[in-house]
Order: sequence, then structure tokens, then C-alpha cells
Amino acid sequence: MLLTISTNIRPATELGFLLHKHPDRYQIFNLSFGKAHVFYPQANEETCSACLLLDIDAIAMAKGRSREYGHLLSQYVNDRPYVASSFMSVAISKVFRSAMSGICNDRTELVETEIPLTTRIDVLPVRGAEGLVNRLFEPLGYSVESIPHQLDTEFEDWGASPYCSVTIKGTKKLSELLTHVYVLIPVFDNQKHYFVSDDEIEKLISKSEDWLKNHPEKDFVIRRYLKNRPSLVRQAMARLVGDEGASAETVSGDRNEEQLEKTMSLNDQRLGAVVAVLKASGARQVIDLGCGEGKLLRKLLSDWQFERIVGMDVSIRSLEIASKRLKLERLPPKQAERVELIHGSLMYRDRRFEGFDAAAVVEVIEHLDPPRLAAFERVLFQYAKPKTIVLTTPNCEYNVKWESLPAGQFRHSDHRFEWTREEFQAWANRIASEYSYKVRFLPIGDDDPIVGSPTQMGVFERE
Ligand code: SAH
Repeated sequence: MLLTISTNIRPATELGFLLHKHPDRYQIFNLSFGKAHVFYPQANEETCSACLLLDIDAIAMAKGRSREYGHLLSQYVNDRPYVASSFMSVAISKVFRSAMSGICNDRTELVETEIPLTTRIDVLPVRGAEGLVNRLFEPLGYSVESIPHQLDTEFEDWGASPYCSVTIKGTKKLSELLTHVYVLIPVFDNQKHYFVSDDEIEKLISKSEDWLKNHPEKDFVIRRYLKNRPSLVRQAMARLVGDEGASAETVSGDRNEEQLEKTMSLNDQRLGAVVAVLKASGARQVIDLGCGEGKLLRKLLSDWQFERIVGMDVSIRSLEIASKRLKLERLPPKQAERVELIHGSLMYRDRRFEGFDAAAVVEVIEHLDPPRLAAFERVLFQYAKPKTIVLTTPNCEYNVKWESLPAGQFRHSDHRFEWTREEFQAWANRIASEYSYKVRFLPIGDDDPIVGSPTQMGVFERE
């Protein structure tokens, strides 16, 4: 990943003084995650460009983490070495520390002068939200140009990749520019892999207090910078804006469902109900399809009736968390051989899903696009066809009982639909008759006489 800063002040080579890096020298800095190289591809009277190139040591990083993250392939094969992320910010703060603080004893006036600066970032992860680059940089007075990259230039129909080369131009003090990119680069990168500690707040505030509080996207910037950690987001908002109240909406979104449900620990009731049904079915081999972070797996593991427990999910990130929560690396061998995590998708027939007594599909179908439900039906009911299937999904009739949920909204921002009891039962009855199952329905959670229970469960038994 590469950051290129250019200027055309006269003489342009003054940039070398501001950055505290001599244009004629190629310098290398050792950082904990790899090396940073600083060099000037161009340095003359008219134009001067300084490059900061990061060379991430992906193997060393993966080794350092192996106990924590299990042995998933994504540790070794990922976009970390190529994408501007928090590593770039760390490098900027180490390599250009004085420049970012606006210190330059040789050029005291120039440090305080706004100069024309063109900065190119190769590459930013924008994941389909190209407008985000403009929304974040334009309010700070930059003009923005982004060049989207194809996934593979040999195969045009594979479409766009989630990465863009971005150039921002503006007349700024160099120290301002550096703090802007320092804070905003990690905001584009929505990876939540690394631990976010309290001192991230200090870093954010010390670098952004002059400009972030008036930025129209400040909520978004803070939330993403602090990786959606609600307590940190609240503190940062309070300190930057001095308004605790503003924080409520900042932490909405993904947290919504969790908070709504917490009041009644619906999640526990749901898992309890699913385990009870699985246990009563006599199942010994169980697959949890869309296992998420492994809450059900943990419960199953504590009951020795279940001899083989497999968790499957499409999200590597969730599987990593599941692996950590289950402490897979440290389980005694007798426990460890009962459980396995697999990466897969409910959209494709997969032989690994076959041969189980029972399958659980807990709060998953509402995350699938309705046109793709047909594929899911065949994968589970036609091909995997376990004897028992326990499937839960929200009952949207119940949503009116949650005052904090605006009318007509889903409980979770990723839900593609939420069904009434009638809709769910019509779907389940059709599937059951098509694939020779019998289905019964059970409420989970408080069962209201008018709107029913918050979660609905269908239990399918193969005939
Ligand atoms: N069953 C878990 C997680 C529910 S959230 C629990 O109750 O806590 C929904 C899960 O479905 C997410 O982990 C998501 O990654 C997974 N998912 C969504 N689409 C999927 C697909 N096509 N194949 C497999 N898993 C999928």
C-alpha cells in the first residue's frame, strides 16, 4: 500500500523539510507489522512527490495470532498487505511524527502555511460505497477523484473490486493533511480484526479535535474508527461534541436487535428452546447452519448426548469469533473431536451437510434474499435432509411491542424480510409437503394473545 504526497510550491523540494525526510535519501523504518519505505520518485524545483510504501509481513502477523484466531486460511490469504488500513495510520504517525505535529525548526513559517497538496492513496477499500470518499473528504475542503479497480482485468464480467485508488487535492497545512488521512483511512476499512482499546479514543481525539466536530459525517467517522464499540463511541462523542445525547443514534444499526432483545434475554430463551427440541429428538449428530459466533454450539458442547457438532457459516469473521469463544485451541481432546467449524454457504449443495440427525437454522433465513430461499430449501430439505430440522425466525407482528423500534423497520439492518406467523407457516407447510416432512410450530418468548411471540420456531420431522 502506497501513500503519495505531492506539491508544486516553489521550490517544491521544501516538502522534504516539512516531512523531515531528505529527498535524496531512500529510508526504511522497521515497524511491528512490517517495513515502511520512504522515497521521492520526483524532486525538483517545480514538483516534489514523497512516497510512503508499506510492506506488511503477513506471515509474521498470522503467526503471532495463531492461538487467538485458529487456523483459518484467511489469516494467510487476505487483503491486509495491499489495502490502506490502520497500519497506514500507524506508519504515518511513526514515520512522519514531527510533520503531523506541525514541527519544523528549519521552516517555521512554512509549517503554518497552507500549500497546494495532492495526495494519492493506493488503495482504499470502499466496498461498493464510492460516494463515501467524497462524503468524507469534500467537507474538509478537498476535491476528490477515485479510480475503481476491477476484480481482474482479464475477466471483465467479474465486475468491480471493492478497492479504489483515491486522489485528494486541497490547499492545506501539511500537518492538517496528515491528520485527515491518519483518521480517515481506517474509517474506510471496516475490518474489526484488531482489538480496540481505550487509548484509541485518545488517538482519535488528539488528531481530530480541530476538525471532526463540525464534519457532517462525524457520527459515522467515530463509529467506524472505534470499530462500532458502543461504549467507546459514546465516550468519544461526548468528548468531541460535548453531547451525550447524540450518541444514541450513533450506536444504532447492528446493535438494535441486540438491545431490543436484551430486555427479555430472548436470545437465551431461543437457544434453550432449540436445545430442548434437539435433545428430545434424540439427535446425536447436529449441524448448526449459520452458526454465527457459536452460541448454540457452546450449549450443545456441554451436553454429551451430542456426539458430533458442526457449525457452518458463510462469514469467516464469525467463525473466527466462534473458534475463540469455544476455545477450540485449548479444548481437551475428547471435547475437541466432537466439534468442528466449517466455512460454507446455504446457497450451494454441500456433501458436508449430509448425514446429520438434526440441523438447526437459528435466525438465519431472514438474512437471505427472498429469491434465493428456493436454493436454500433444496440445499437443506432435498439434499442434506436430516431427520429433524429446527428453524427459527422473527415474528414481525411482535415488533409493535418494541417501542424503540420505529414502525415498519426490521429488527436488524441486515434482515431482508421479517414474516408474520401466517407467512412463515404458509412457507413452512409448503416446504414440508414438498419434501416429505411434518412440521409443527412453537412460540419462543413472551406469547402475546394478539401479536404472538417475538420469535417463531418451526420443527420439521422427516416422514
Ligand atoms: N445462528 C446464530 C447467528 C444468527 S445471525 C445465532 O442465533 O446467534 C445469521 C447468520 O447467518 C450470520 O452468522 C450469517 O453470517 C449467516 N449467514 C447468512 N447468509 C448465509 C449463507 N448464505 N450461508 C451460511 N450462513 C449464512
